[in-house]
Amino acid sequence: MSQFDVVILGGGSGGYACALRSSQLGLSVALIEENKLGGTCLHRGCIPTKALLHAGEVADSSRHSADFGVNTQFIGIDMLAVNAYKDGVVSKLHKGLQGLVKSRNVTYIEGHGRLVSKNEVEVNGVKYTGKNIVLATGSYPKTLPGLDIDGTQIITSEQAIAMDRVPKSVIVLGGGVIGCEFASVWKSFGSEVTIIEGLPHLIALEDESSSKGLERAFRKRGINFELGTRFKSASKDAKGVTVTLEDGKTFTAEVLLVAVGRGPVSANLGYEEAGLNMDRGYVLVDNKCRTNVPGIWAVGDLIPTLQLAHVGFGEGILVAEEIGGLNPRPINYDGVPRVTYSEPEVASVGLTTAQAKERGHDVVELNYDLAGNGKAQILKTAGAIKLVAAKNGPILGIHMVGARVGELLAEAQLIFNWEAEASDVAALIHAHPTLSEAVGEAHLALAGKPLHAHG
Ligand SMILES: Cc1cc2nc3c(=O)[nH]c(=O)nc-3n(C[C@H](O)[C@H](O)[C@H](O)COP(=O)(O)OP(=O)(O)OC[C@H]3O[C@@H](n4cnc5c(N)ncnc54)[C@H](O)[C@@H]3O)c2cc1C
Repeated sequence: MSQFDVVILGGGSGGYACALRSSQLGLSVALIEENKLGGTCLHRGCIPTKALLHAGEVADSSRHSADFGVNTQFIGIDMLAVNAYKDGVVSKLHKGLQGLVKSRNVTYIEGHGRLVSKNEVEVNGVKYTGKNIVLATGSYPKTLPGLDIDGTQIITSEQAIAMDRVPKSVIVLGGGVIGCEFASVWKSFGSEVTIIEGLPHLIALEDESSSKGLERAFRKRGINFELGTRFKSASKDAKGVTVTLEDGKTFTAEVLLVAVGRGPVSANLGYEEAGLNMDRGYVLVDNKCRTNVPGIWAVGDLIPTLQLAHVGFGEGILVAEEIGGLNPRPINYDGVPRVTYSEPEVASVGLTTAQAKERGHDVVELNYDLAGNGKAQILKTAGAIKLVAAKNGPILGIHMVGARVGELLAEAQLIFNWEAEASDVAALIHAHPTLSEAVGEAHLALAGKPLHAHG
């Protein structure tokens, strides 16, 4: 059969979520993938990086175990074993996902697809017709002009994930989420790390307080960074890569990781020919992920929304439900949780202080230092939870720095998305001693009845 209700191009987070939900709704679905089902997140992104970060956490725990009265000796990192662990996690999830897609009766087509008309995608000379076409071709790692990725000395996250050794030294170009996560991994593994970031802060899209908190923690860990200074050029020799900045400073390291953002995969796929509205390669959509061409939809990193796997899942599900006639609510992108999984973690939902002010809110803020939290002391982590709220109104943003704070987002996103006020949360008893207690304490303090808070 080559006629379907839904033909999906790209089997990453956005594409496969759309396929699974569409078939659940009784629609016939074809899912086209040229590489591996699961896409960037499963094979080259979220999952392998988090496995590397966890290995880094284990390394740091063994290094610092004497701080907890446990004597161990850190001997070193065996990258072959680290990769076997990481690849094992990926492979298990990959097999599970393949089974899931099969069990839901999705027709899985392997090969390179191209949009050849408003309702057809061609793969290996065969045309697949869809009443609806969903484009989910994802993104690729960008580089800068004059910076050639050779895959060994100058690399992107794709090679960084698969490295078979720990480099002695690394320059990370780009202090966004991906750059900071790799900087954290390599520092834990024993490399000398320098981050170069053109903006004034690391993870500059986060609230400034979180950026500063991460910078403080990275400085303490011995991760070097240069902020507000732009890359000029790079040269290579047998010793490594030398990076020159516009301010004249130079840095040399064994490896240069280029982490300057990701661009949409949309070239030569027939998108322009189909008449799709596009901007810098991104496919433009409305709040239901509809393109300007009726029957063609686009989701995930291909569209200019937050480049996160769970955003792809959400958009894929939204499209399936819209096609299925359920008239779902559009996504509120402010309410999407965001995590940088470095050590320490940075997690947030909602608006930064600057955004809340820009949108005209009369803003109140509260900063709760994790120094007052028992579990944080047990874990020996530092950090804070910052609340941004409307005066006499709901919580507008929650911004957290510290070990494991990503796990606190589950509650934070309910608070934000259900438009809770500080007094609503203050009335809830949090388990002691947990890190989540700090979320409760922050709201107690903002509601005017601080418990374990000084000042
Ligand atoms: C290093 C790194 C770490 C990350 N960590 C996280 C994280 O911790 N949490 C998080 O939420 N997000 C994370 N992300 C982002 C996340 O991976 C992406 O947002 C997500 O994968 C986007 O999903 P997608 O479906 O839009 O695209 P992709 O996952 O890129 O999938 C697109 C798929 O389409 C296929 N394809 C493309 N063109 C064609 C064609 N012509 N024919 C057939 N198939 C085609 C590709 O092979 C690919 O499998 C990370 C990304 C990176 C790079």
